[in-house]
Amino acid sequence: MAACIFCKIIKGEIPCFKLFESDKTLAFLDIGPLSKGHALVIPKFHGEKLTDIPDEHLSEILPIAKKLVKVTGAENYNILQNNGRIAHQVVDHVHFHMIPKPNEKEGLGIGWPTE
Ligand code: C5P
Repeated sequence: MAACIFCKIIKGEIPCFKLFESDKTLAFLDIGPLSKGHALVIPKFHGEKLTDIPDEHLSEILPIAKKLVKVTGAENYNILQNNGRIAHQVVDHVHFHMIPKPNEKEGLGIGWPTE
């Protein structure tokens, strides 16, 4: 979709720190990280919510998220996927957050810091 910021990242029109790319999946560092290594894994297929994405475009998402967790070495982490404004979705292109949780004191929970 033309106005979608993540579609622009996929097309290379907006830069990102790329971690993985295949024909149907892209992973990159989140521009506003909640912790060191916070990454996003997205299907290249544009859809707003998880239910808008055909299964075949989701098959690599969790295996890639697993690989990214291993690269960070995080023992504690959240895999998070928001759908809809009330559920804290800001960017209307499905994305999975992989958020390492450094330790109990500075770590972040499943919600956002303002909660
Ligand atoms: O799940 P939600 O929609 O709230 O998260 C969107 C995420 O996309 C935010 O963590 C934000 O920092 C990230 N983002 C990004 N690069 C952009 C725009 C947003 O990493 N150009």
